[in-house]
Amino acid sequence: MKLREDVAAALRANLPQRDIMRTLHVGYNTVVAHRKALALPAPVRGGHPLQPIETEFYARTEPVDGGHLRWTGHHANGVPRLGRQGKHPSAYRVGFRLHHGREPIGHAKPGCGYPQCVAPAHLEDRPMREQIQAQLTAIFGGAR
Ligand SMILES: [Zn+2]
Repeated sequence: MKLREDVAAALRANLPQRDIMRTLHVGYNTVVAHRKALALPAPVRGGHPLQPIETEFYARTEPVDGGHLRWTGHHANGVPRLGRQGKHPSAYRVGFRLHHGREPIGHAKPGCGYPQCVAPAHLEDRPMREQIQAQLTAIFGGAR
């Protein structure tokens, strides 16, 4: 097929597909065929390049005294959440993964006492809470 130079230039400039279609009066299939012919990667939904999750996470936080991190993003049912690619994982889970490099088991929650803290190092999952509880019990004795 013969490539249109304007479409190719717009694709190389990383313009959103819908803008290319509207501005250059070409159809969806034409844009896709050009992208394929030029071996360019498929576009990201919404036309915005996807940031690493770490960047998106910290962009929605604000440091608080004591090393805590306040969530400035969206909340649902009292839980801070990170909207991303149509999903809304809890910011606690995302922060936990960033710090511990694994999925939390059970709920991830702040263990530092600061309400809704999302500082990754302050987040605990169930096994961590159980371990802390066991240590406290060993030191102070069990509940009577
Ligand atoms: Zn904290």
